[in-house]
Amino acid sequence: MGNRMNQSAVISDPVLKMFDADVSQVLGDISAWLGLDGISMQMQPNLVRHKVTVACEHSFTNEFYNTLHQGKAEFHGAPALKQGYVADHVKSEADKRFKALVSVDNMRREVLDGKLWEPSRVVCDEILATSYEDCTSCHNGSVTCGGCSGDGTQICNNCRFTSHPAGYVTCWGCHGTGGGRDAGTQAWYNCSVCNGWKRKRCGTCNGSTKVRCGGCGGNGTVHCGSCGGHAYFTRAHGFRVSLELKAHCQSDTMPEMDAKYFAVWLKEGLPNRASHEAGTIMPYAEIDKPSSRYEGWKDGVYTALLGFNCNVTTGIVKATYAGEQTEFLYGRFGTPAFGFPNFLDHVVDDVLKVVVEKEDMPPSEYLATFSRIPGLAAGMRVSGSSKDGKSKFMDEALGVLRGSVHSELIDIAVDGYLASVGVMERDVSGRVGRDVSLAVAAAWIASWFGGLFEYIHGLNGDYRLLATVGLALGVAGLSARLVRFMTRRRISAETGASAKYGLRGRGKILCFLGGVAFAFAGMLSVTYGG
Ligand SMILES: [Zn+2]
Ligand SMILES: [Zn+2]
Ligand SMILES: [Zn+2]
Ligand SMILES: [Zn+2]
Repeated sequence: MGNRMNQSAVISDPVLKMFDADVSQVLGDISAWLGLDGISMQMQPNLVRHKVTVACEHSFTNEFYNTLHQGKAEFHGAPALKQGYVADHVKSEADKRFKALVSVDNMRREVLDGKLWEPSRVVCDEILATSYEDCTSCHNGSVTCGGCSGDGTQICNNCRFTSHPAGYVTCWGCHGTGGGRDAGTQAWYNCSVCNGWKRKRCGTCNGSTKVRCGGCGGNGTVHCGSCGGHAYFTRAHGFRVSLELKAHCQSDTMPEMDAKYFAVWLKEGLPNRASHEAGTIMPYAEIDKPSSRYEGWKDGVYTALLGFNCNVTTGIVKATYAGEQTEFLYGRFGTPAFGFPNFLDHVVDDVLKVVVEKEDMPPSEYLATFSRIPGLAAGMRVSGSSKDGKSKFMDEALGVLRGSVHSELIDIAVDGYLASVGVMERDVSGRVGRDVSLAVAAAWIASWFGGLFEYIHGLNGDYRLLATVGLALGVAGLSARLVRFMTRRRISAETGASAKYGLRGRGKILCFLGGVAFAFAGMLSVTYGG
């Protein structure tokens, strides 16, 4: 499946040689996809080398911050300094980091790593020094206990609110009556526990009215909450830089369409750029000698510029295909770029006409009709019946065809196929559903003769209900799976690809009702029929 091409230009020119190779490749891919026996074209390329000046704007945002940590905290590589030395040290270290970031080497790397037009990113975040600070809200890590005000004791609650003298509680032997009268003689006798005093010394505080403070265990002090009892803090002094990278491209000669291709190539980090400016069609980018400007480190936002030149070749190719004059765009960036007019629409159109004339084609016939266009038939197969499959295939197809066929035609062809599969799915699942209902009915009769319902009926109350519901759900689930499995198998047999059919609302409800009917009809048959 070769391409027959006649070019009027001299092929020995290295620029035209590469153009020739690129065109052969892309036309070969298109004709293989469309099932053509090569694409015969006469071409007259008019290629121009454009100079593009790129100014990359590196916007840095600097930020100093600090964080406070209880007690000792260490950060890799950050020295612990006396407070008076921190500011100078942090400034000078930050300046080193910043100089490295705005260096030509680093800015060039950012561009070549493909970071242009990425949202703002953190490119440096480091703790540069630490310092210690005393805790001002405690003494040696301890503070006075709030529960006892430093006393270490609390008032005893056991004897607190009684009508007795401090340290005493109501007698538990007489409940405060002091004694009682004998039931027979009516003679008074004193309580043997309190001897008539109606009170006893408090057992909790031994009459002292004070108990050990629960908050501090009697110490009178507790750990300081703010410093965690360490009595000091570590303050970490950090430096953070974020970067946003944008570019301005300027060319006196490059057309707008080519500028768009150029921007994509630049965004990818200028892959496959050549190091020699002349004698090749490959794009050339002179970023070994960039001009950059940096006027010393500043707080806040700082912008550094990196400028360089690129040379790219693009052009309009006058072409004659099937006796008709046409034009297409060519450009050599990281990969060759082509912009074809829709000059091959007729290939897809011819097959679509056949499909439209014969309405309601089953999927296999649809595929057979499109087998003349191998790329399209293969795409239909993998799209199956899913929208995701279709959009993935569309992207691939448009990448191969590069405008030679109007995307709408591909869209119509694939949609037609998906519709045909949809019609078949509904049809097949309906037929399968009827088969499965018959099988379920046969199973019901077998279960009845086998005594399954009688067995369930014989179970005790709760178990009987559980078994009935379980049977209903089991039959519903099994028949749903049967319908799905058999439908998929029949569709796979039809299309030669794995089917993705899933039961939709109505099918699910029918299977569920079938299961319920199975179980409850069974129970009724033994309750009333037996
Ligand atoms: Zn403290
Ligand atoms: Zn206390
Ligand atoms: Zn008593
Ligand atoms: Zn007490």
